[in-house]
Amino acid sequence: MLPDPKDGRFQELGAGGFRFSCHPGVACFGECCRKLNLVLTPYDVLRLKTRLGLGAEEFIDRHAEVETGQNGWPMPRLQMADNAERTCPFLGQNGCTVYEDRPGACRTYPLGRATRGGQAGGPLEESWFLVREPHCRGFEDGPDWTTEAWTKDQGLEAYHTVNDLFLPIISRQPPAASPEQIHKKMQMFFMACYNLERFREFVANSSLTRMVDLPQARLEAMAQNDLQLLKFAFEWLRFALFGDQTLRLKEGVGPRPA
Ligand code: SF4
Ligand code: SF4
Repeated sequence: MLPDPKDGRFQELGAGGFRFSCHPGVACFGECCRKLNLVLTPYDVLRLKTRLGLGAEEFIDRHAEVETGQNGWPMPRLQMADNAERTCPFLGQNGCTVYEDRPGACRTYPLGRATRGGQAGGPLEESWFLVREPHCRGFEDGPDWTTEAWTKDQGLEAYHTVNDLFLPIISRQPPAASPEQIHKKMQMFFMACYNLERFREFVANSSLTRMVDLPQARLEAMAQNDLQLLKFAFEWLRFALFGDQTLRLKEGVGPRPA
């Protein structure tokens, strides 16, 4: 996604990188954790629900509102607390209470990462920009950062790896179909991306694994490991929704599962 060029907060990131320091001693500590419009990716939800010991459905019921996101796909937005400041529900006295599993957007700030391409296995291009908000004092001091150093420091590699697998789905419009079929596809998308417990049941109880050629070791990993299952979910959605060659049918199997 590219930032709105009319929004003055978004600034070009020069070749020299940026100077920044955020720590509990800054006067604005926690100012950036309120009144947020923070859309959660499937990997954000996976990390947070695991951290909180919740099922995906319970996490979304408690902490998110589902809205129509990019290209019409349903996506959860983090629900702010019902207080005057509309703080993030995870903001505590001493800062972020889910710090090690905070969403990718929180890690990326005060940068933004725009991506494009990546459909059907094509190359993915990334570009970075600065998000300069008047309340943020972090720019006043600190070391100089490159985007590479910031990515590493904030533990963003894992987020980029998984989110970049999601991009070839949400960067496309749902395939043309009747309103009922589109509704079904949206439900399928939401289950596979945001409700891994239900998706695991679906995989176990449908004809999917009998039709798709998957090594036994991968099936076992998907049964036990949410991240492996999520990666499969992205492949399956691309295969079933767009006909991408992300999966292969077993010998002699005809129609594609939908
Ligand atoms: S507003 Fe900026 S400096 Fe202040 S806590 Fe947030 S990121 Fe850190
Ligand atoms: S998850 Fe943590 S870092 Fe992100 S907005 Fe909430 S309190 Fe702030």
